[in-house]
Amino acid sequence: MTQMQPIFILPEGTQRSTGKNAQRTNIMAAKLVAETVRTTLGPKGMDKMLVDSLGDIVVTNDGVTILEEMSIEHPAAKMIVEVAKTQEDEVGDGTTTAVVLAGELLKKAEELLDMEIHPTVIAKGYRLAESKAQQILNEISEPVTANDTEVLKKIAITAMTGKGAESAKEHLAAIAVKAVKQVADMHENRLSIDKDNIKIEKKVGASVDQSELVQGIVLDKERVHNSMPRFVKSAKVALIDSAMEIKGTETDAKINISDPEKMQAFLDMEENMLRGMVEKIKKSGATVVFCQKGIDDMAQHFLAKAGIYAARRVSKSDMENLARATGGSIVSNLDDLSKADLGYAGVVEERKVGDEDMTYVRECRNPKSVTVLVRGGTEHVVDEVKRAMEDALGDVATALIVGKVVAGAGAPEIEVARQLRKYADSMSGREQLAVQAFANSMEVIPRTLAENAGLDPIDVLTELKSAHDKKQKWAGVNVFTGKIMDAWKQGVIEPLKIKTQAVSSASEVAVMILRIDDVIASSGDKGGGMPPGMGGMPEY
Ligand code: ADP
Ligand code: MG
Repeated sequence: MTQMQPIFILPEGTQRSTGKNAQRTNIMAAKLVAETVRTTLGPKGMDKMLVDSLGDIVVTNDGVTILEEMSIEHPAAKMIVEVAKTQEDEVGDGTTTAVVLAGELLKKAEELLDMEIHPTVIAKGYRLAESKAQQILNEISEPVTANDTEVLKKIAITAMTGKGAESAKEHLAAIAVKAVKQVADMHENRLSIDKDNIKIEKKVGASVDQSELVQGIVLDKERVHNSMPRFVKSAKVALIDSAMEIKGTETDAKINISDPEKMQAFLDMEENMLRGMVEKIKKSGATVVFCQKGIDDMAQHFLAKAGIYAARRVSKSDMENLARATGGSIVSNLDDLSKADLGYAGVVEERKVGDEDMTYVRECRNPKSVTVLVRGGTEHVVDEVKRAMEDALGDVATALIVGKVVAGAGAPEIEVARQLRKYADSMSGREQLAVQAFANSMEVIPRTLAENAGLDPIDVLTELKSAHDKKQKWAGVNVFTGKIMDAWKQGVIEPLKIKTQAVSSASEVAVMILRIDDVIASSGDKGGGMPPGMGGMPEY
């Protein structure tokens, strides 16, 4: 008789959990992530204070920012964080919505698992419900075009509500709409918007309502020398990304200078080299120079003598903005600089903003290039207003590109839930239960909006449902009064894409997590993750 030997198919130390165990742990982790950001949803949502290992503090209610700062480890939890990132990349708003929805879909799925419904059945039901939800969202949406300025402004205001830009939101909304409309392009009946054409520059000082839209590029830079012109008309702009300095003489070449004559010769040589650099710029015909690196004092002097306007240490992204706006190309080697590389701007001037000087590059060759100059009393305020402005610009652009919008405040989620339940009635079998679970999950959005506003969620949901039964498709939660409102009439309007993207990525991740019945994690220092440098599953 031979004795059966135990067989090890995995390396020692590998952690494995299978079946229900794996499923439950994954669902638990995913729900925890959703629970964390839930309290930040909506205009009445709270903020989170995040303190990193160095003690730096971020206060925000932005879903992605929170999740990124948390450095989450658990693999299933990480998948939920991915949902937020996808939402941020695809739409730029709605990250909390997507994560909260994913968490709720998994919570409801867990209840079905408890009823011994197989995960593949739930997955199938969720997929059916998801595609029906997309259809419903499209059907209830309203069209929008660039001519609907009032609707677009409301989208911008909705994006900024509760984000610290409150005081001047009308003014900021008008700026956002104007900026997006200006960069919008019609191509064979298709609208395209290149958001890279909109630069946001912030400057502390003055109040938020003094923020402005500038035609062209605004740089937080002054001209390097006082005797340079302050104002250049019909500017020919050279964009240089190398230093206009003699590099490293102090350290690299140890020159032993024994007599004063040699010293003079050395200085003369240096001066000649810098003079040569400026000569090359002069020869190209440039009247303005933007340099990504430093400009030596001596070179500054020569440039000033030549009547050239120059700014130094311009950031890489600003150099790219300038290239796009003026039509110039960025040159690394001054020997290569020619007339063809120069950009054009009607005006380059230095202007006082607050008590600092900034460079305005206006009347550019590319008329689509604009800058939103954000003002505010403190660093903290301008940062918040900038984030709010980014959301507003993103939402207005998304609304125009898709051409469809919905009201917010939980209205679309309640309407989708209502119509999905009807759809479930037409089904039979256990998938019906999954579709119903999906429908109920959608209600987590209005419920959370109500909870975060300190309202009784059961009362609010009951009222909302009965309003929707009476064909009031835009009935939503008024988080300020605690009553039901027509969200459309109250101007709470959002791009359709926020909702369609949130529904699709939330259901995708829920299904993916549900279908996992085996977690095999190689042994590493960090529990759960793969050890660094090992790019895959262990062989077995
Ligand atoms: P997200 O990261 O999902 O965008 P937000 O904190 O921005 O999270 O909240 C978005 C939710 O708040 C949406 O459901 C939106 O409809 C709702 N909302 C925005 N403004 C209002 C408002 N004035 N009244 C009620 N709900 C609002
Ligand atoms: Mg938002």
